[in-house]
Amino acid sequence: MPGTPGSARLDEVPEPAAELGSVLVEALAVGVCGTDVEIATGLYGWAPPGRDRLILGHESLGRVIDPGPSGFAVGDHVVGIVRRPDPVPCPHCAVGEWDMCTNGRYTERGIKEVDGFMADRWRIEPEYAVKVDSSLGVLGVLLEPATVVAKAWEHIAAIGRRAFWEPEDVLIIGAGPIGLLAALIAVQYGPYGRVHVVDQVTSGPKPSLVEALGATYHTDLESALALGQDIIVECTGVAPLIRAAAEAAAPGAIICLTGVGPAVVPDASSATTVASDAVLKNLVLFGSVNANRRHYYRAAQALARADRAWLEQLLTRRVRPEEFEDALEREPDDIKVVIEFAAA
Ligand code: BGC
Repeated sequence: MPGTPGSARLDEVPEPAAELGSVLVEALAVGVCGTDVEIATGLYGWAPPGRDRLILGHESLGRVIDPGPSGFAVGDHVVGIVRRPDPVPCPHCAVGEWDMCTNGRYTERGIKEVDGFMADRWRIEPEYAVKVDSSLGVLGVLLEPATVVAKAWEHIAAIGRRAFWEPEDVLIIGAGPIGLLAALIAVQYGPYGRVHVVDQVTSGPKPSLVEALGATYHTDLESALALGQDIIVECTGVAPLIRAAAEAAAPGAIICLTGVGPAVVPDASSATTVASDAVLKNLVLFGSVNANRRHYYRAAQALARADRAWLEQLLTRRVRPEEFEDALEREPDDIKVVIEFAAA
């Protein structure tokens, strides 16, 4: 029940309504992310109109049971696009860039006003289902978080064209799923320079996952920031880290914010302000959310190129639907926790 902390429960639900789409899908797996935890703790999310409860889940992977007239085949693995354009539509939604919706009237599966994918069966419109290589198995569930990062990188590249730009160092702050996928894409894109990832965690799989990409893992923020990066992808949403990133960034740097952290009282102790750093160093500090179809295409390419054994290690816990409460609890070495509905 969005808005009501602790109200998440496993429930019997009716078969998915036909108006959700002509493709009927059997759920294979659903990834859990910070947004799901925020909804479960009452901080975010909206139930469908006229209802109190929302089916959670926006990081989907399913197998087509009944393709209807879609052109998909029975057995195809598909991932559902999360956002739907607003009904007006605003200019961005009108051209298929619903991730940039300007009037806020978009809807999102499992987040905003439309049921998500944490159910044994779900339905989807053919034009919002993306086919994934079934040989990826359960790893296909990483597509949605990878789309968020694919969009972020697309925008970094677009902003980089504003002036002459030869980036040499990239810093990713936070080695969660978004940070690690951001590092994967940064390494694949090569020309953006040396890749560094900083996280407070010293044990578990994160350090070796970063090193396996040929990137450098740091646990000390200050020494990581001392490199004065040209691109910073901030994946924690923690305000003091964003402040520190703006202070340390190289002149002309691009700082992309992908996470929303807890609200904090501004820290007046810094010698500079975000404004003085941004103005005097020509920084671009921008936020990035969601993804459109183009980003699903790019993200699928990135996953296809990635080493599967590396991707496997991102799925640190797999639980059954009955154990959904465990999935919503974060453990120290968790990267991506997945609820498995059926064998992929
Ligand atoms: C999802 C996005 C969504 C955002 C805000 C994220 O967790 O990955 O698709 O737009 O939450 O609702």
